[in-house]
Amino acid sequence: MYEGLEPDFEEMYYDLDSDFEEMYDDLKPNFDAMNDKITSEVEVIVTDRDIALMNAVEYVFPKAMNLLCLFHICKNVKAKCKMNVFPKNKQVQIMEAWEALIYSYGEAQYYMKLSIFEGICSTCSIFYDYVHEQWLIPHKEKFVETWTNRVMHFGNITTQRVESAHWSLKRILQDSIGDICNVWETISSMIVLQHNEIIASFEKNIIQKVHRHSNKLYTNFCGVVSKNAIDLVATEYDGVKYVGIDQNECRCTIRTTHGLPCACEIAKYSMIPHSIPLDVIHVWWSKLTFHVNVSSKPSKLSVKYEIDVIVKKFEELDVPGKISLKGKSKVSKRDTLTKHDPSWWEYVDASVRCSGTNACSTITTSKVQKLAPRPSVQKLTPRPSVSKVQQPTVLLFKDWLPVEIHKFIDNIIDVGDDGDCGYRAVAGLLGMGENCWAFIRQQCVVELQEFMSHYNIIFGGENFVR
Ligand SMILES: [Zn+2]
Repeated sequence: MYEGLEPDFEEMYYDLDSDFEEMYDDLKPNFDAMNDKITSEVEVIVTDRDIALMNAVEYVFPKAMNLLCLFHICKNVKAKCKMNVFPKNKQVQIMEAWEALIYSYGEAQYYMKLSIFEGICSTCSIFYDYVHEQWLIPHKEKFVETWTNRVMHFGNITTQRVESAHWSLKRILQDSIGDICNVWETISSMIVLQHNEIIASFEKNIIQKVHRHSNKLYTNFCGVVSKNAIDLVATEYDGVKYVGIDQNECRCTIRTTHGLPCACEIAKYSMIPHSIPLDVIHVWWSKLTFHVNVSSKPSKLSVKYEIDVIVKKFEELDVPGKISLKGKSKVSKRDTLTKHDPSWWEYVDASVRCSGTNACSTITTSKVQKLAPRPSVQKLTPRPSVSKVQQPTVLLFKDWLPVEIHKFIDNIIDVGDDGDCGYRAVAGLLGMGENCWAFIRQQCVVELQEFMSHYNIIFGGENFVR
């Protein structure tokens, strides 16, 4: 590359080379860390049908789903249609059939729409062969909704945003004449501008109030979740009156593609009525800052360290000690009506804290309770992410319930069995945590007293109400 250069220049280039290598060596660990982070976290990449680029994506991001830009595919298909299909009203008919095909929501519907599309295209085989061979056969999973609706793409199914940023850059650069310093400065100031715009949009999301979002269902979202996300949830809420809690009718697309509650989910909250909990929203929508929030990455949580500590502790003990420690995990008696038994992970937490301070060698139930109170039902049962939703979950006690209501069962929680289980279940369902059962009980008494005459009729006499 440097052959033919004047000796002075050649030397300068070699100096640059060695400086660059040194700099590269210094920065390499950062590059590697960044690369690992990006390749492990990127789940979806949208590109145009550029085979070299698609191969590169497959190589660098083997776990990522490569979607194809729907906008550009439709442009190509439309152009081909204009060139090969006549008369003009036939073009309109074909493009309508094409749209119905790409927006089909299930495989059965896709193949039905495909046969309709094929029938309409029977007189224009060149166009049909093009669409079939260039797009549908090799790439349908990358742009037809039947398949893209299974991917968490947060609404990014075209490359428009990138194209628009590219267009802005080209407009600022104006022409390709200019030294690298000018270009660098221009790109740098553009990125600073974009960065500021994003920060401003974050602030808007946090501060601005929108009338449409004043519904009590969204109480937990205001100032915490992106306005776009609340808008999408509000649109789903509009569909509740048609869908109800029927999952088949709902199709739950917004849940799988955006990580947001769909109509059938919202229906359950609106029936109670109860504001939608924050943990059913994908963390991506609540990221209104550039700072990394460790608590917003539940997928990174692990109990490996805590389990290792318990195993190590167990192995260090003598036989009676082992029996004692093992027995702790089977404690089932309740001390009093208002206290509860700690979960196994509370033992783990307590054990880790004790081993860190050397303050205790064995764990007692009372100590554990002080260290780690049982969280509310809401915390115990966070809504699983979409990838988890798709996996079949085993619900204990489901078989005890009539088969007819199985399809309406979303989750089963085993609340405390101290005689107040009914109140505990209601408190848990309302998101207060089952330990607020006494409050529910009190509210029931108030309700019965206030409307005694009505309940007398319902229960068949005052004696039954009292
Ligand atoms: Zn749904």
